[in-house]
Amino acid sequence: MFSYQMGTRIEFGIGRIGLLTAILREAGFGRRILLVTDPGVEQAGLVAPVIEALQTSGYEVAVFNQVAPNPRDIDCEAGAEAFRNFAADSVIAIGGGSAMDTAKSIALLSQTGGKVAEYVDGLKVYERVAPLACIPTTAGTGSEVTRSAVITESATHRKMTLKHALLRPVLALLDPALTLSVPPSVTSATGVDALVHAIEGYTCKRSSPITQAFGAAAMKVIVPALPQVMENPGDVQARSDMLQGSLLAGLCFGASDVAAVHCLAEALGGLYDTPHGLANAVFLPHVLRFNVTGHEEIHAELSRIMGFATADTKAAEAADNLVRSITKWVKSLGIPNLRELPKVRTEDFDELVELAYANGSTPSNVREVSREDYRE
Ligand code: NAD
Repeated sequence: MFSYQMGTRIEFGIGRIGLLTAILREAGFGRRILLVTDPGVEQAGLVAPVIEALQTSGYEVAVFNQVAPNPRDIDCEAGAEAFRNFAADSVIAIGGGSAMDTAKSIALLSQTGGKVAEYVDGLKVYERVAPLACIPTTAGTGSEVTRSAVITESATHRKMTLKHALLRPVLALLDPALTLSVPPSVTSATGVDALVHAIEGYTCKRSSPITQAFGAAAMKVIVPALPQVMENPGDVQARSDMLQGSLLAGLCFGASDVAAVHCLAEALGGLYDTPHGLANAVFLPHVLRFNVTGHEEIHAELSRIMGFATADTKAAEAADNLVRSITKWVKSLGIPNLRELPKVRTEDFDELVELAYANGSTPSNVREVSREDYRE
């Protein structure tokens, strides 16, 4: 049994940003837009041309840039207030997953009020959201096509996931040229994040033939493209492949789930503010090694898809190749290990384990995972 729903219009291509206003008109967006972004994206020069294009076409624009790298509930609530103060009718996000997830939360809170946690804990219901367009500027999260937003509860460090079909953006506009300015450490971490989405969306207990098709397509493109981008950040074709891989990976996990890598990564991000992609990249090789046991066949499939084994390679050997090759691949991208991350202390492991274990995606992991497994 599976179900699949996807209502986001996707526009992809170099220079596609030039179509923004025409598409907004077609899609019935209102004239007063809250543009959600972050200071890094503004400094990269990506926001000013969008504002100019919107204003030239008669749109009124207010900018909200109070977006943290692991977005916080209090900023989303402030954004909803900014939406109401400006009497906005639509939201556009331009940025990475942080700006897009903040924008999704604003689109929700601005309509039906309340706090992020109230929707996560079931105290408030999803009734409606403001129309939302997402323009990703990193190649990683796939948030432009997913129904979720990951927000940190400032008081508890809990990373909460808002999840509802209404949160899917009306429009996802992907222009690879906007990712050319992403610095190397963000490029590598977000790129590995995209691969983790494909791997976990493909292998998790909630996968389906549809999500596996998207996941396989994503893996094929990401594994060769990310080292190319790292080698030559100005390679627009490789950047385009990465943005496409990230989109396909979003379509994969967005209709299934993530799993243990994300549970650990979100625990780490909640506690230490570790960038999300980096946290995923740190845990990927270890969780893969754990997951292979008892699940050789599905990991052999991954290995063949990514070109680490052939159709003739026996399952156990192919799965083993996958773990070794991905470990090497991650290392070659300059990803540190857990011990090298700032702030991480073994004294916090109890809390990390509890946060990871309580994550709603723990039961989705392909291999059952206990608190002790997470600690190890
Ligand atoms: P990010 O949005 O936090 O951006 C990282 C940094 O890169 C920021 O400093 C930003 O200013 C900068 N940046 C972004 N684009 C740039 C560009 N083109 N040029 C120069 N600098 C640029 O990072 P991210 O990895 O895209 O997003 C992470 C967030 O997304 C996390 O909070 C994570 O939990 C969330 N996430 C959400 C989903 C989902 O489906 N909703 C999926 C995965 C991750």
